[in-house]
Amino acid sequence: MLRAMQKIAIGTHGVSASIGNTPILHDVDLQLSAGRWCAIVGPNGAGKSTLLRVLAGLLPSDGQVLLQGRALHDWPARERARQLAWLGQAETGGEDLLAWDVAMLGRLPHRAWLAAPSEHDHAAVAQALRATQAWDLRARRLGELSGGERQRVLLARVLATEAPLLLMDEPLAHLDPPHQADWLATVRAQVGAGATVVSVLHELTMALLADDLLIVKAGRVLHHGPCHDPVTHRALVAAFDGRIAVHPVQGQWIALPHVQELTHAD
Ligand code: ADP
Ligand code: MG
Repeated sequence: MLRAMQKIAIGTHGVSASIGNTPILHDVDLQLSAGRWCAIVGPNGAGKSTLLRVLAGLLPSDGQVLLQGRALHDWPARERARQLAWLGQAETGGEDLLAWDVAMLGRLPHRAWLAAPSEHDHAAVAQALRATQAWDLRARRLGELSGGERQRVLLARVLATEAPLLLMDEPLAHLDPPHQADWLATVRAQVGAGATVVSVLHELTMALLADDLLIVKAGRVLHHGPCHDPVTHRALVAAFDGRIAVHPVQGQWIALPHVQELTHAD
């Protein structure tokens, strides 16, 4: 009941999407509550990235996508870009840009045409680069950075937008464990401040730290529920054909693959 009364940040009704002639998503109905972090999980090729691209308006679909209750295609592009920040999976491009300028791209929807960045634009970019531990990289070119450094700069671009809805596809790719923890803290801070975060994650243990799991399999939503709910855990195990297990470890849920036989060399 309480959930039904919560504000919906983004939702879909009967969404189907194809890539070329291949149907990928089938009849997806979703309601993602504002002020929560939802992790999208599922096997490789399940349609997670496709779903996120549909939510971002980057891939046309049949059915309805509603951002704050208003059809996504009814939003003026600039206004929509202020509401919704996007990080794609394995993004390339912009290799010659300085990390500072990449983060500044996140401010584009706020800036007047050809106007110099405002004081607030500078402050937002600086804060975003600091939040992702990318401040020291600001004068380096994107193409010179390691995978993890690059990912932190791209995350800074997302944060710099100061959008109330953040859509991120595999944001932890290439990040070492301390930077994964930083990302987690950033997400918690964003959600604590009222933002909605939707992230595709293949690190299931990290995904279980979210508020809700959206489990996708074969282009359909298999389950959508709180991360702490045993029903969600059972759905997660089912999504991976019983080849993983969810264990409680020190007050946290851990998802591990079953390993048939472990041999140690010692
Ligand atoms: P996930 O992110 O869950 O791994 P995707 O949404 O990327 O899955 O892909 C879903 C399905 O769509 C997969 O079977 C994939 O092979 C297919 N697919 C993705 N991109 C393309 C493309 N550009 N052309 C053809 N098929 C694609
Ligand atoms: Mg993907």
